[in-house]
Amino acid sequence: MAHQIPTDGTLLPLMEEFYTIQGEGYNTGKAAYFIRLGGCDVGCHWCDVKESWDADLHPLTLSDDIAAKADTFPGKAVVITGGEPLIYNLDYLTARLKERNILTFIETSGAYPLSGSWDWICLSPKKFKAPRPDITPFANELKVIVFNKSDFAWAEQYAATVSDTCKLYLQPEWSKSKEITPLIIDYVMANPKWEISLQTHKYLNIP
Ligand code: SF4
Repeated sequence: MAHQIPTDGTLLPLMEEFYTIQGEGYNTGKAAYFIRLGGCDVGCHWCDVKESWDADLHPLTLSDDIAAKADTFPGKAVVITGGEPLIYNLDYLTARLKERNILTFIETSGAYPLSGSWDWICLSPKKFKAPRPDITPFANELKVIVFNKSDFAWAEQYAATVSDTCKLYLQPEWSKSKEITPLIIDYVMANPKWEISLQTHKYLNIP
């Protein structure tokens, strides 16, 4: 049966949660508790967490319990990811985390309205469902997954919409990384406002 998810954010479909090291983007190398919410309709064909797409497969979990669990780990930072976590109202969960002095980071495609209180917003726009124009100015980090050559021009379109302080990352799509990484290296050397982000957790064999 389909979940009835309350709009106040007190219950969320939790796919998995785990304490690990953030592998990619600006916060690479930092210990963080990952909270992966189920539900995504963006439809990236190269998505590596397709099992997240159907929210009904993931148990509705009290946001209070998620925050309490996050607080049991020494790294006082969480990465809320998905799926697409902004399908849900994240005001309640982030308020509970902040009460506990836990830093809040989000990974989002930007396809849904921004909710929640964030220390770091990583916007990773997707071609399959464009980010909302009212989110891009709030991004602390723009992380573009490069799947083919045409993605560089597409990345530049989004770089023009973020704030001046937003960090810019190009990250090879994992299955094409052998082919794409050399192109990213050349691109970043020619366009140094960009930096390379690698999925270091995959090289380290950690979640
Ligand atoms: S937005 Fe993320 S979770 Fe959704 S389909 Fe794309 S890669 Fe997968």
